[in-house]
Amino acid sequence: MTNETLRVFTGHLWDGLSDTLLRDAAVAVRGDTVVFAGPRGALDIPETARVTETGGVLLPGLIDLHVHARPGYLGWFLAAGVTTIRDAANSLDLVAALRGAQDPSPRVFAAGPLLDGPRAFFRQFGPGAVHEAGDGHERRAGAWTVRHPDEARAQVRRLADLGVTHVKLYEQLDPQSFAAAAAEARRLGLPVMTDLGLAGTRGLSGAEVDARQALAAGVRSIEHVSGYALAYRRMGGDPLGRTLDPARLGELAARTVAAGTALVPTLSVHEGLAEEDAPDLGQLPLGTLKGPVMAALRAQWARTHPLGAGARRVARADRRMAHEMLRRVAALGGTVGAGTDTPASAFNLPGGGLHRELELLVAAGLSPLQALKGATSAAARILERPDLGVLRPGALADFVVVAGNPLEDVRRTRELRLVVRGGQALSPDALRDTAAAHDVPAQLSSSGRVRAAGPGPAVPPGSGTP
Ligand SMILES: [Zn+2]
Repeated sequence: MTNETLRVFTGHLWDGLSDTLLRDAAVAVRGDTVVFAGPRGALDIPETARVTETGGVLLPGLIDLHVHARPGYLGWFLAAGVTTIRDAANSLDLVAALRGAQDPSPRVFAAGPLLDGPRAFFRQFGPGAVHEAGDGHERRAGAWTVRHPDEARAQVRRLADLGVTHVKLYEQLDPQSFAAAAAEARRLGLPVMTDLGLAGTRGLSGAEVDARQALAAGVRSIEHVSGYALAYRRMGGDPLGRTLDPARLGELAARTVAAGTALVPTLSVHEGLAEEDAPDLGQLPLGTLKGPVMAALRAQWARTHPLGAGARRVARADRRMAHEMLRRVAALGGTVGAGTDTPASAFNLPGGGLHRELELLVAAGLSPLQALKGATSAAARILERPDLGVLRPGALADFVVVAGNPLEDVRRTRELRLVVRGGQALSPDALRDTAAAHDVPAQLSSSGRVRAAGPGPAVPPGSGTP
């Protein structure tokens, strides 16, 4: 028994799983935990309870499954209703800074440095960006290289000892090291996320592991729908051709679902690469915020967005593959998660970008319900954290209140009224003010060399000082 005050929030409820809203509902919280979520009439509210009549829709806090966060804008996520982020690669020093953030901030799940092959793409970020066993860059590097399966297993164990919550495997790993790392991670209970490269990055030129091999290795999620272009080519097709073969796509989708692997398509990344025009960010949470962080983001986008006609065409082929696969995987009952890759590609707004991602997932063919699950209950399954992403008794009290029904129009998630993180109710306006007060991190972006590299981590690991 605890004598902490019971807090009750009333409104309509979407619990992260149900097909419809529960009208006239209540959520009761004690400490940081949900103790009741259901019809208001079924809750016996004691005199001592603190009741907040929200007049809105309560839903689980949003989860962004693909972020490369910086302390300077960590608070932006929470201000946008994103209560959890999965960091997809950062140096150990940056992970420590993220976890030590003083202001209210989202829960951070962190891979720490990703594992890549000896020709690691991260080398372009300069000395210290890549760690090779014994070179002293362990804490500063955003990528660790491995040369053979024994080294892969050893580095996964090292990461596990350092407290990472999942492992990120990258595009230049050889197939044996990839499989060994994935098996070791599974043995240690760490889910694996992987970026195998796109046609527009190194996915057809340097990457050795394709989506089929990654599925066979038992990865938890494939990011950007990477590795499918290579798999498609190895199946005899042309991923850049005028049309794609439904039979090959269907086989890839069926394999994905059978493996229990989720897609995190990061359509925001594909949009930033495939589209000539900048989207209107003014409709997104914090989209109109001014200040040094926004200025630094805009400067980075100005460098990464311009592409030649050929590269833009390849980016459109990558986006086509992403659309085809996510539709098919969802239709077969597979899992599609919501992630943005903030800030790696153009126009990805920390926090606000996830709302755009939801809209893009719906435009690509998901129902609002499927898209919302991808940022709540399905995202929590990808994190292997059943206490997140749902509003049910026993869950952590991370939720948001929005003005309208997002199951009817997914853009209603932008109309934030309240953010609750670990039972602490926070006003979006106050969170926005805190976010606006932050100074710019030392370096948000890398040099213009990123332009040629396309998506992937545009932030130079290790060079940003918190
Ligand atoms: Zn990424």
